[in-house]
Amino acid sequence: MSNWLIAAIRSGATDAAPFLETSDGRRWTYGEFFSRAGGLARALVGLGLTPGDRVAAQVDKSPEALLLYIATVQAGGVFLPLNVGYTPAEIDYFVGDAEPALLVVSLAAEAALRPVVERHGARIETLDDKGGGSLMSLAADAGEAPFDDVARGADDLAAILYTSGTTGRSKGAMLTHDNLLSNARALKECWRYSSADRLIHALPIFHTHGLFVATNVTLVSGASMIFQPRFDPAEVMRAMPSATVLMGVPTFYVRLVQHDGLTREATAHMRLFVSGSAPLLAETHRAFSEKTGHAILERYGMTETNMITSNPYEGDRIPGAVGFPLPGVELRIADAETGAALAQGEVGMIEVRGPNVFKGYWRMPEKTKAEFRADGFFVTGDLGRIDERGYVWIVGRGKDLVISGGYNVYPKEVEEEIDLLPGVAESAVIGVPHPDFGEGVTAVVVPDGSARIDEAAVLAALKDRLARFKQPKRVILVDELPRNAMGKVQKAALRETYSDLYA
Ligand code: ATP
Ligand code: MG
Repeated sequence: MSNWLIAAIRSGATDAAPFLETSDGRRWTYGEFFSRAGGLARALVGLGLTPGDRVAAQVDKSPEALLLYIATVQAGGVFLPLNVGYTPAEIDYFVGDAEPALLVVSLAAEAALRPVVERHGARIETLDDKGGGSLMSLAADAGEAPFDDVARGADDLAAILYTSGTTGRSKGAMLTHDNLLSNARALKECWRYSSADRLIHALPIFHTHGLFVATNVTLVSGASMIFQPRFDPAEVMRAMPSATVLMGVPTFYVRLVQHDGLTREATAHMRLFVSGSAPLLAETHRAFSEKTGHAILERYGMTETNMITSNPYEGDRIPGAVGFPLPGVELRIADAETGAALAQGEVGMIEVRGPNVFKGYWRMPEKTKAEFRADGFFVTGDLGRIDERGYVWIVGRGKDLVISGGYNVYPKEVEEEIDLLPGVAESAVIGVPHPDFGEGVTAVVVPDGSARIDEAAVLAALKDRLARFKQPKRVILVDELPRNAMGKVQKAALRETYSDLYA
């Protein structure tokens, strides 16, 4: 048996093909990447890593952090990246929960994290964003002779990825070699990826989008990437003339649309702009295509399932829709309570099944059981519908549904009406406890300064546009919505902030 994921990646490119280039001028071919990864894999084995052991990492974005992912999988381990924003107290929880053999941290964090890691009986090594630290010294000592990849099958774990924690405490999603490989191949086919592609990689690499979607699609295609430490609109614009693809969260596109340099000419070399991880406003989609002639391709996925749907490469990329299920992925809309399939066009729970769907939540058998139907479909927690052409539309998260006076109010429907009003940049509609209605529909609105707005004006404008039970009871104006690193609006935080509004 070979190593399922690594063998597939290795067969995707020749040694001389370019793999990665950094803003500070470092360049690696595939051959260089694998010889470095081999040294690191040997170092991990030297530290005592055995198949199935977890290697956790809370490190700044760097090419070496990508090496650590690949080397861990080569060595038969399970890669476990952690958000760089987590505090030592949060790391304490993750290390206790995941029990990694090794935690790799930045030099700056080592002093604070060493006691935490040692208390849990794990090892700690360091890695900084320039490739320094104890880990790469060990790898250099281990030499660059070819590494014999540890045999792992399709169903063995390759990674545990914690969910973003948007709706509660993050859960560890157990992802197998084939979960990752099948999804990378489906995306490669869907997005017509080839070795000629050059990706602008400006996403964080502790999340499924930057780590798996962006990196694995590149690797299985033998393509290359321009690896940027963070999203900076000017840097992204600078890379476009030599790149073909950008993958971003909606915030990237909002910021690019505001950039003066965004024109048809500036994007002429680009083939594809992908958006995901949070809803892309239809308005952003339209503004981007007016300026560039490119229709952003929106796709939908989650940590537990990898990518689920994508707008078509050829054919209409519809603003607001997330497209069709990927090859090999089954998707249905079901009654959230009973799981019974609903008629086409009805709004219900999005459920998915396929080789992309994870094995379960790490050490949460009850939770895992609760989120799968008897026939193997995974209950995503997202509400949506399928239109007559087969496009999937996401209506919002089940947990964000507002039930006011016994009626279901889908926040997105209200947000879309508010966003159309002059002077509104964006909005978030939430339900907060209300003595008469159970939950009161509440709109949190960000003005864009182009026209004067206030609570009364928003309420008046919505009067004839929405049924009475959907109309907000209150409208609150704010400078910005709370967002996490992936640009997701933190509705739980908003509900908390305004919990006493109607008390
Ligand atoms: P947690 O599960 O811990 O509460 P999370 O669901 O935000 O956090 P992720 O797995 O990073 O963690 O995000 C997946 C979710 O992101 C999806 O379930 C969906 O709600 C949202 N999402 C992803 N892509 C899109 C998209 N294109 N449009 C709308 N929502 C999207
Ligand atoms: Mg989730």
